[in-house]
This record gives sequence, structure tokens and C-alpha cells, in this order.
Amino acid sequence: MSVLVFVEHIEGVIRKTSLEALQYASEIAKKLGTTTTAVVAGQIEETALQDLGAYDAQKVLYVADARLNELNARACTRILVTAAQKENSQVIVLLHDVNGRAIAPRVAIQLKAGFVAGALDFPDLEKGFVVKKSAFSGKAFAYVNITSPVIIITLSPNTFPIVKAEGTATVEKLQVAFEDKDFAIKVKSVEKITGEVPLADAELVVSGGRGMKGPENWGLIENLAHELGAATACSRPVADSNWRPHHEHVGQTGGTIRPNLYIAAGISGAIQHLAGVSGSKTIVVINKDPEAPFFKAANYGVVGDVMEILPKLTEAVKKFKAAHH
Ligand SMILES: Cc1cc2nc3c(=O)[nH]c(=O)nc-3n(C[C@H](O)[C@H](O)[C@H](O)COP(=O)(O)OP(=O)(O)OC[C@H]3O[C@@H](n4cnc5c(N)ncnc54)[C@H](O)[C@@H]3O)c2cc1C
Repeated sequence: MSVLVFVEHIEGVIRKTSLEALQYASEIAKKLGTTTTAVVAGQIEETALQDLGAYDAQKVLYVADARLNELNARACTRILVTAAQKENSQVIVLLHDVNGRAIAPRVAIQLKAGFVAGALDFPDLEKGFVVKKSAFSGKAFAYVNITSPVIIITLSPNTFPIVKAEGTATVEKLQVAFEDKDFAIKVKSVEKITGEVPLADAELVVSGGRGMKGPENWGLIENLAHELGAATACSRPVADSNWRPHHEHVGQTGGTIRPNLYIAAGISGAIQHLAGVSGSKTIVVINKDPEAPFFKAANYGVVGDVMEILPKLTEAVKKFKAAHH
């Protein structure tokens, strides 16, 4: 019996949020008095897998198949089901990201497992297996008691800090009996975003809404993001209008992020937008309308015109950096 955790990498580099999922899984394993096994798919150096020991994995099960360099929910489901049966796992942890959300329910059905999506804390084992998660688009918390023998949890990213320790994991190749249908969905092309901070892993995010008026003004968002070392995001209408690419859209129908700082410029704060960002540690809202609903969710609010405030903020960050260099 062990706790299983699905660990993702991008071209051989383990994702930061996956390290968080790994440490979350290993805390659960300790509570249950068992060990943690990471499952990794796609080509990656063996040393990178051994290094997962520094994040509390005792063992890594690895499927070195080039077809998995682009994650594929069906094939990954078969991998996790195979691994769970081999390890006799009671708990399986994935990230609550676009991949985890596609894989976890499929694994849950195959293993007849109880499933909590978007966990925000460690399970409370005193009361059974009670997991805290957000509900109603982040408006409330739900505490879910899972009573099934096998439990699947997707963890909301950026919930816990990552602590690196010492240790080496043992690496084992996992044999998986794939079927052709596992690879029925073919990735035809991949557009890679380069030179930017990946939004899902970002600790600082500068985001723009319709109040930015048009794509020609996005330099103001990008300049501030550049000075802060932040990723950029946007509201849905901005992506729908092709002012920004869709991977930047956050909210109920877009990405869910939990950065340390979320700066929202010209975004009204509709509940569907808040669903993707309300877990941010600090929210700064810039809006010219003092009645904008986003101010209710904000830690800091600036009532003013984004066209004036954003350049001033960027200048202030530059000055601060110069003074503290
Ligand atoms: C099923 C469903 C799912 C949805 N999913 C999402 C989602 O995932 N993500 C999402 O974002 N939305 C989503 N929406 C849309 C959501 O309801 C809102 O319509 C949207 O978030 C509004 O985007 P916005 O705040 O950029 O634009 P607006 O609502 O138009 O707000 C613009 C804001 O900018 C301010 N402003 C204007 N000019 C300036 C200026 N010069 N300086 C400062 N402030 C200024 C205005 O006061 C206003 O508050 C969804 C809707 C539905 C029905």
C-alpha cells in the first residue's frame, strides 16, 4: 500500500506545482504510515527522477514512452490504474490543472474510487477522510468525507510551499499494456510559449480586463509584469475578443491560479472570473468604478484609470528595485 502521485514534467523539467502535489501526497502517506510513489510519463533523465527523493518520494514508477511526451488523458489513465493496482494504493493525488482534471475522473471510474476535485488542505483523518475544497466558484468551502476504499484527490496548485530536503528515490520502469485506443487522440501540433513565466506556476500575476480598452494597451500590463517577473493573465471577454491568447484566460471556464499576488487591471470581478483567482494570497484591484464588485474581494484597491495607474506602478517597482539592488 502506498500513496500514489502523478508528477508532470515539461521536456524533462519537473513542474513546480507537481513538486507541491508530491509533498502533499507524502504528508498524507506519513499520516497513513505508508510511503509515496511518484508516477512519471514521457522521456526524462533518470537523475531527475531520482531527485524526486528530495521532495519525499520513496519510489518513482516511470513509463519511458515518447508518445507520452505530450500528456494524453487516456494513456495516463491506464498508467495510473496499472500503477495503483501494482502498488495497492489507497490514495492517488493529481494536480487540479488541465491534465489532472482530465485524468482523475477517468481513473476514479476505473478504480470505483471516491474523488475530491480541487482540495485546499490535508485530509482530516480524525473524522474519517475529510477533505476541504472550494465550492460555488470559490464562494464557499465544502468538507467532503470520502468513504470508498480508494480515494482520488486533485490538489489546487499553489496551496502549499515546497521544501527541498535530501534524499534519492528508487526508479523503476512500469510496464503498461497500452491499447491502440489509448492513443486515439493525436496531437497534431504544439504551440510553445517561450520567454515568459508559465501562468499556472507563477507566484506573481498581472491581469487585464475589458477596461484595458484594446490589445494596443497591453504593453502597460506587460511592462509591469516584466518589472515584477510576473506572468500575464486576462478575463474571458479579452481572450474571446482575441486581444490575448486563450491560455491566459482565468476563471470558471479558464485556468485556476493561486499566486501570491494577483493584480487585476480593468476587470469588474464577476463571480465567474473570481472562481479562477479568489485563492490568490493578495489581490490588488485597479478600477475606475469604486462600485466594481472586485473591490469586495481585494486586499488593496486603487480607484483610478488603468492607463495612468499602471505606468505609475511600473515606475514605482523600478525605483524600488534600483534602491534595493
Ligand atoms: C458560464 C460563464 C462562464 C464564464 N467564465 C468566465 C471566466 O472563466 N473568466 C472570466 O473572466 N469571465 C467569465 N465569464 C464572463 C463574466 O461573467 C464577465 O462577463 C467577465 O469576467 C467580465 O470581464 P471584464 O471584467 O474584463 O469586463 P467588464 O465586465 O466589461 O468590466 C470592465 C471593468 O473595467 C473597468 N474599467 C473600464 N475602463 C477603465 C479604466 N480606464 N481604468 C480602470 N478601470 C476601467 C470598468 O469599471 C469595469 O469594472 C463567464 C460568464 C459565463 C456566463
